[in-house]
Amino acid sequence: MAGSPVVAELDLGGSGKQVGRLRVPLSRDDSGWGTQLVPIVVLANGSGPTVLLTAGNHGDEYEGQVALLDLARSLRPEEVRGRVILLPAMHYPACAAGKRLSPIDGRDFNRCFPGDPFGSFAQVLAHYVDSALLPLCDMQMDLHSGGTGMDILPSAVGHALDDPDMMTRTLAMADAFGAPITLVLREVNAGPTLLASAERRGIVALSSELGGGGRLHPENLAITKRGARNVLRHAGVLEGAPEVGPYGPSRRMTVPDMGHYVFAPVDGIWEAADPLGTDVTAGAPAGRLHRTEDPGADPIPLTYAATGLLWCVRFAGRVKAGDPVAVIARDL
Ligand SMILES: [Zn+2]
Repeated sequence: MAGSPVVAELDLGGSGKQVGRLRVPLSRDDSGWGTQLVPIVVLANGSGPTVLLTAGNHGDEYEGQVALLDLARSLRPEEVRGRVILLPAMHYPACAAGKRLSPIDGRDFNRCFPGDPFGSFAQVLAHYVDSALLPLCDMQMDLHSGGTGMDILPSAVGHALDDPDMMTRTLAMADAFGAPITLVLREVNAGPTLLASAERRGIVALSSELGGGGRLHPENLAITKRGARNVLRHAGVLEGAPEVGPYGPSRRMTVPDMGHYVFAPVDGIWEAADPLGTDVTAGAPAGRLHRTEDPGADPIPLTYAATGLLWCVRFAGRVKAGDPVAVIARDL
């Protein structure tokens, strides 16, 4: 495939702390040779591993963005052994708009990998991350939260991998991150995600879900800040052992199949029966779906199809047919 048209306005191989921009072509009505700037920070010192930490893959997920801004300000190059690459607002147009999807091309950035140098803005940027940044990396973590639509118990998230050695190394990284939960997932449509791109390149990689509801949750921010530094300690880029959070070691869980999701069968307003984090039982009421278009009809009751921990709930009130309203996790 052709090379990337993206230009990094810093030296990815340089030493010290560099705060710069990626210049991504963006042709507009009033600026045919226009470019969109995406912030990037690189800290490097001596020899050692390279860790890429990313946030703002989705613009309405805030814990990761703020944790990486904090890291960009507070990390000193002399603390580092190796290299840290930070993209605190990776899909910058979506971050600036506070939206999941791009206001430029309507794309979900995490459905654009491995990207296309001749594609839309999001595809060009995804191609650069995949082809120019990932090959430099030994470890990668992409920080997500539930966004406007969902609220999720703070978790490191890894894919169920067929290679047992990679699975062990991934779980060790998740233990080090130290979120209250480590979730091993077989995801809906994982292929075009950054996490899957990193896995295809043999990089030990994690994603995460660190809250949601389109707001910045202070407790989850503290978990994310500690976790980001813990990943650097685990990689050997920072000295010292990973810090354990006040809730203790991470609880390993899984969402084993689609039977652990509750989906809305029709459009409506979702009234949940239980708050996030409730222990729920198969067959118990999950909530009711109200249909404003039919005032004479009863709300539609939905039930859980599995027993476990209510790991993810619908946050926004309005749902469309096919949207998940609850996801249940069970211990691994
Ligand atoms: Zn996300």
